[in-house]
Amino acid sequence: MAAASLSAISETTLHPPLTDSHGRVIHDLRVSITDRCNYKCVYCRTGEGGAQYPELEIEEYVSLIEIFVSLGITKVRLTGGEPLLRRGIVELVQELARMRTPAGQPLDLALTTNGHLLKSFASPLKSAGLQRATVSMDAVDAPAFERITRVPGSFSAVLAGIRAARDAGLNPLKINCVLLRGFNDDQIEGFARLAREENVVVRFIEFMPLEEGRLWSPEIVVTLKEIVERIGRSLPLVELPARDPSETARRYTFADGVGEIGIIAPVSQAFCGACSRVRLTSDGKIRTCLFSQVEHDLYGRLRTGETVAELRAYIVRTVQGKEARHHIGEPGFLKPSRSMVHIGG
Ligand code: SAM
Repeated sequence: MAAASLSAISETTLHPPLTDSHGRVIHDLRVSITDRCNYKCVYCRTGEGGAQYPELEIEEYVSLIEIFVSLGITKVRLTGGEPLLRRGIVELVQELARMRTPAGQPLDLALTTNGHLLKSFASPLKSAGLQRATVSMDAVDAPAFERITRVPGSFSAVLAGIRAARDAGLNPLKINCVLLRGFNDDQIEGFARLAREENVVVRFIEFMPLEEGRLWSPEIVVTLKEIVERIGRSLPLVELPARDPSETARRYTFADGVGEIGIIAPVSQAFCGACSRVRLTSDGKIRTCLFSQVEHDLYGRLRTGETVAELRAYIVRTVQGKEARHHIGEPGFLKPSRSMVHIGG
């Protein structure tokens, strides 16, 4: 472990909220713990396997996350790549569950996974202190799902994972579905029914230009407005009030109050003004926006022996420079230097 002395954190004074230069308070950290993935979803990856970026030791993620927490991060989501491929994830969750915010509260701990290995991990992760999980699922029928993931047997594995997560008490359990026109948008109504029948929150996400290949176009995006209209034709929706101002999903229930769906619309209704996130990549770089053109090498500084105080100051400076917003769909838009799977979605 590099030179930063973790005991020094407890001696530091409470820091004012981590804030960027646009006045947004940053309290949400997404940490990728590997950029490897066992799926090759056609809209995400070109099909190349394996890691493109190095992984840190589990204790190194713990050290870096602890510094963010000392600065006001209250929510940590583990992601990837596929985080369940990462050896040591249960121990990492155990360590994170022990951490306390400066106000003495436990962290809000979450996981985003493709669910393929969740059947065997749900219970150990829950015992380790994980509270909730989000499972990605882009179709509700097996052949369509397996065409997307390019992995035979993936649909039944993920369904078993979802049920194991529910039985283990991971709550809320959310299912995220990225919709692409002419590709899986015929699944919208099936997902609405799944939300009601399986008692899970289904969230549709607009497709962003973050794929490895070149698939994105404005026309391929299925917008919030269209999703609401399509579901509403068979199952009228009622919008629910936002629970907190940085919530990314617009939430809806059905006319009879049974079930919930959410729509995350970063393209048609960008929510950058309420963004509360920063990301740490699997190789320890801070990204202040999914669409950042630059990364900030926090791990490099840990390795060269910077003190906790220096690392804290670096994080504060970096967060201050967070981009005002993304520029999807605008002339001159530049794709970010990494695709979603290598950033951590
Ligand atoms: N392997 C995990 C999983 O499948 O949830 C975590 C990483 S994955 C990159 C996280 C989420 O990003 C998934 O829900 C995936 O569908 C979504 N995603 C990938 N590419 C995307 C894109 N271009 N636009 C929007 N969401 C995307």
